[in-house]
Amino acid sequence: PLQGRVAIVTGSTSGIGLGIAEALAGQGAAVVLNGFGDPAAIEATCRGLSAAHDVPVRYDGADMADAAAVAALVERTRRGVGPADILVNNAGIQHVAPIEEFPPEKWDAILAINLSAAFHAIRAALPGMKERGWGRIVNIASAHGLIASPFKSAYVAAKHGIVGLTRTVALEAAAHGITCNAVCPGYVWTPLVAGQIAQQAAARGLPEDEVIRQVFLAERPTRRFATIEEIAATTAFLCSAGAASITGVALPVDGGWTAH
Ligand code: NAD
Repeated sequence: PLQGRVAIVTGSTSGIGLGIAEALAGQGAAVVLNGFGDPAAIEATCRGLSAAHDVPVRYDGADMADAAAVAALVERTRRGVGPADILVNNAGIQHVAPIEEFPPEKWDAILAINLSAAFHAIRAALPGMKERGWGRIVNIASAHGLIASPFKSAYVAAKHGIVGLTRTVALEAAAHGITCNAVCPGYVWTPLVAGQIAQQAAARGLPEDEVIRQVFLAERPTRRFATIEEIAATTAFLCSAGAASITGVALPVDGGWTAH
């Protein structure tokens, strides 16, 4: 159903973004992967995805912390593969610390990568989508776009911000056949979550094995992590024809966490 569409997925060399890239390639879209990692492994991922789904797959290493690099990614995609019909703003980083100890440079990096990059990418991709009268923008926010947890000041601020950006873009683009939605995952087991266990343990004074039980799973009615495949399937649905009237929503995929 997405044959002939071109999709950019930021931060797709790992975790949720890679799962989304696989799901969109599986629907027939040409995909541009982005993110950091071992060049040989990334090359193998591109070849594997392309062969499995018989679609063009490219890699672009643009740094989402750099506004000009974000705009350049959209322009290189237009010249190399075709104008982006689908934009998934997924790249994100995390840092966990009490606000008095939160390093200002981490605040700046989280705001740049988790929020401003989406603004710059949307700004660059929207004119082409408007010209063609079709577009799908999916921002991977978080349950932390809707509620807060302690020790995540920058992340919660950025994710609340991207929910507001999503609603604004939805209103500006609605008359042009373009939707803009946010997906709000609860905890998903990825390198981003594995990497914060030590910081969570330090900030909360808990042993590391208690962090998974008390922090990651306690508030989840399902008592399990959401899966990468579930986030990818939700994103692919929002890109489908059936989701044409869904725009401006912040959709929790969190096992009921934000229903509390
Ligand atoms: P991850 O660490 O597995 O993947 C992050 C990706 O972003 C990687 O490909 C990485 O290379 C890339 N990236 C990081 N900095 C970048 C930069 N400056 N420029 C370009 N790419 C960069 O993380 P994940 O868990 O898959 O997270 C993906 C998104 O999902 C993030 O926005 C995150 O906030 C969100 N999210 C994750 C969870 C979770 O529990 N894992 C929950 C809610 C929301």
